[in-house]
Amino acid sequence: MTIPSPSPETLLDRQCEQRSEPGYLEAVLKSAARRVVVFHRGKALMNAGRLGYFDPAALPAETLAGTTHVYLAKALAGHGLPNGTDLVLQVLPYDAGDLAWVPTGADFAGYRDVASTLNAGEVEVFIEAQAVANWHATHASCPRCGGPTESLCAGWMRRCDKDGSEHFPRTDPAVIVAIVGPDDKILLANNFAWEPNKYSTVAGFVEAGESGERAAVREIAEEVGVVLDSLSYVGSQAWPFPRSLMLGFMGYTKSSASTPDNVEVRATRWFSREELQAEVLNGNAGIPGRLSIARELVERWYGGRINEPGDVVDAAELVAPGATL
Ligand SMILES: [Zn+2]
Repeated sequence: MTIPSPSPETLLDRQCEQRSEPGYLEAVLKSAARRVVVFHRGKALMNAGRLGYFDPAALPAETLAGTTHVYLAKALAGHGLPNGTDLVLQVLPYDAGDLAWVPTGADFAGYRDVASTLNAGEVEVFIEAQAVANWHATHASCPRCGGPTESLCAGWMRRCDKDGSEHFPRTDPAVIVAIVGPDDKILLANNFAWEPNKYSTVAGFVEAGESGERAAVREIAEEVGVVLDSLSYVGSQAWPFPRSLMLGFMGYTKSSASTPDNVEVRATRWFSREELQAEVLNGNAGIPGRLSIARELVERWYGGRINEPGDVVDAAELVAPGATL
């Protein structure tokens, strides 16, 4: 099952109201039917190439000192589990010691390494688990007084032992923009962190006290030197680095001038629909993977699915939407 990135559909029921009731997590932790997702140092424990939904009986380390448990959700369809299975996150302490208990065939992996192999249900669980695990890993001490904090509300709140202040998982907004210019071409950027032939949309964090729209205009001006005339909001996607919410926009400009900042962006390039599809198929241009909001934005401009080498396609699909025959 594939769900386009900015979609209100979900494959999880987070039980947001119920999970804060006293004893909720404790009761789930006594159930043999629950399944456990394990994170350590920002990586998930994979099982034979899939996100591991482990039987707790297979995890002798579940009671390891310093472990934090978080109630993730009831799994709905699309996870290969009975509908309503409780998913619990087990965040191992940074110094978890000997990991010899890790089951055969299982190993830890980061989101970027495995995202392209995950199904939509696994993506949703991975991103939720990583975001909340990253938050726990950095909030063991109270940001107000430095005292120790403890995890409460099924892992969705930490409270300071000294001053009683309550702290909740943070989400950091970022903007991501597909720039559409003259002749309905799209401007994509190549980042210094990528291979020279990879192109994507431009993204950046929203600053304190800034709206998403103003952040989008500022980031585009800073990174690629383009002045946007207008914006339209498309949708959002949670992203686990470290716990972001990407706000996706289409940005429109009347100018074809662009200037890479030479700090983050190495180069920019305008593509027509025909050029982009041809360059992707012949390997001259790589674009973001499916299930990313960057790909969703590019395909929204394109007007359909962009095929990649290895895709099985009908020749008629290779005609770009809107192309004149
Ligand atoms: Zn405190």
